[in-house]
Amino acid sequence: MPVRGISALGSGVALASSWRLGDEAFLGVARHEVAHALGLGHCGRWDCALSERPHPMSLADRPNELCPGCMDLWDGLCRGLAP
Ligand SMILES: [Zn+2]
Ligand SMILES: [Zn+2]
Repeated sequence: MPVRGISALGSGVALASSWRLGDEAFLGVARHEVAHALGLGHCGRWDCALSERPHPMSLADRPNELCPGCMDLWDGLCRGLAP
């Protein structure tokens, strides 16, 4: 499987590839990687964009929405980054 995205935890840097992905799937990959860059780890929920691989569904079916728990963390981190 080709690399879809890469990021270092808490680095503030993320890279995601849209190669052969639809807009919706790419959004999920991008959100997953940016979340790592912000410092979020993997999530145990399969219905979360931060779910860990391997995923029981194909990558294209990975949800591009974060679960409520991750969304809270995401919001908190984004607020922390705001000037
Ligand atoms: Zn990940
Ligand atoms: Zn989650």
